[in-house]
Amino acid sequence: MADIVVLGAGLGGTLVSFELIDQMRPGDRLTLIGQSGAYQFVPSNPWVAVGWRKREDVEVDLTEVARRMKIRLLTMGARRVHPAEKRVELENGESVSYDYLVIATGPDLAFDEIAGFGPDAHTQSICQTGHAEKAHVAFEAFCRNPGPLVVGAVQGASCFGPAYEFALILETELRRRRLRDRVPMTFVTAEPYIGHLGLDGVGDTKGLLESEFRQRHIKWITNARVTAVTSAKMMVDEIALGGSVQASHEVPFTYAMLLPAFRGVPAIRGVEGLVNPRGFVLVDEYQRNPTFPEIFAIGVCVAIPPTGATPVPVGVPKTGFMIESMVTAVAHNIGALLKGAPVSARPTWNAVCLADFGDGGVAFIAQPQIPPRNVNWAAKGAWVHLAKVGFEKYFLRKIRSGESEPFYERFLLDQLNIHKLKEPQIDETPHA
Ligand code: FAD
Repeated sequence: MADIVVLGAGLGGTLVSFELIDQMRPGDRLTLIGQSGAYQFVPSNPWVAVGWRKREDVEVDLTEVARRMKIRLLTMGARRVHPAEKRVELENGESVSYDYLVIATGPDLAFDEIAGFGPDAHTQSICQTGHAEKAHVAFEAFCRNPGPLVVGAVQGASCFGPAYEFALILETELRRRRLRDRVPMTFVTAEPYIGHLGLDGVGDTKGLLESEFRQRHIKWITNARVTAVTSAKMMVDEIALGGSVQASHEVPFTYAMLLPAFRGVPAIRGVEGLVNPRGFVLVDEYQRNPTFPEIFAIGVCVAIPPTGATPVPVGVPKTGFMIESMVTAVAHNIGALLKGAPVSARPTWNAVCLADFGDGGVAFIAQPQIPPRNVNWAAKGAWVHLAKVGFEKYFLRKIRSGESEPFYERFLLDQLNIHKLKEPQIDETPHA
């Protein structure tokens, strides 16, 4: 009998729990540790922030799902992982021991790295549903008294897609409210060019997103390092190749939302051998930590090096499809170990993404995620918005029902001929 513990009940943690159930032997036990009993569909947060969704539309109560699937769900959160003792210390002081641990704790949001930055200071956030609700209250107040608006992502950020989505969704909503003519908009980003996305672009995302911004009169500042934020102004340095300050801007705003840099959560940060200096979990090609081989990691908490040098630090995004490929590989590998076989599944880390603009959007496929690529495709159209709404409904139904391998997803991927982009690659000569 083995104890398998999954830490983090977000996208990766919930999905890997569902897939592990199919891999377990009779008598094996699965524990899922979250910080609450609610799963939040993070990609819908931009819609919460403009009032197109409410919390109850994007949240799933995991307690009933876990009970049905015989997963022990603990909702008090973890204080610390102790790999040498193979145990997770909980916030209530108790401990849970494991034979195998999957870390899926997502990001810690590093707002504190810039003075005046974040939802407890002068800017809004859409990273959590609670933040997005607060951003919505602020947006309604802004609409009663419109002014300049700033959206973007700061130095060290890795999650750029939602910043573009939010800028363009806000623009759509402001036009619908007939307020757009009173709102100068600026996109401030650490990326070296518009559409870089932390991926050195995908297909012609540079051209597609620049064109979208030009058509919608959104100005931009790239290579941006935000040095401080006050209640009405953002101090932004534009950095040249080599690191010198090329220009300094004071950007006025009445409403601002910028994605922060991410780092590993406190429960794992600083654990020797487990994480890098920024707190992200070190993994090998099987998603397994080299120092503690009974620990696997998936999702945003995984350490991935940047695509290349940029004047301002820019991280690599860990998108949903890519995370699902990690999930499938980890479930397969733990399943193999439980059966006494070596690990053999490597995730593809391919990216398939839908970025919604409220009335259209951009879709892209990157295989592999890091260029040069075999598939490097991006396109825009009204269908992307409809596809994203459809995907939200489908995905929330999948979490509510606890399905791990639904027919719909297989069918869709087959239709698009991208099924192989997600399936793990299986070694013919597996490693111990
Ligand atoms: P999360 O889903 O963030 O889950 C981490 C979980 O760990 C959380 O529930 C947290 O409470 C829990 N946790 C943290 N610390 C502890 C602890 N000490 N103890 C117990 N639990 C803990 N990707 C796409 O492909 N498409 C999109 O449209 C898209 N939109 C996005 C929009 C936004 C605003 C953001 C921020 C990201 C988006 N992403 C998108 C990227 C990515 O898919 C999501 O961030 C996804 O939720 C990441 O999954 P994860 O499992 O790594 O982390």
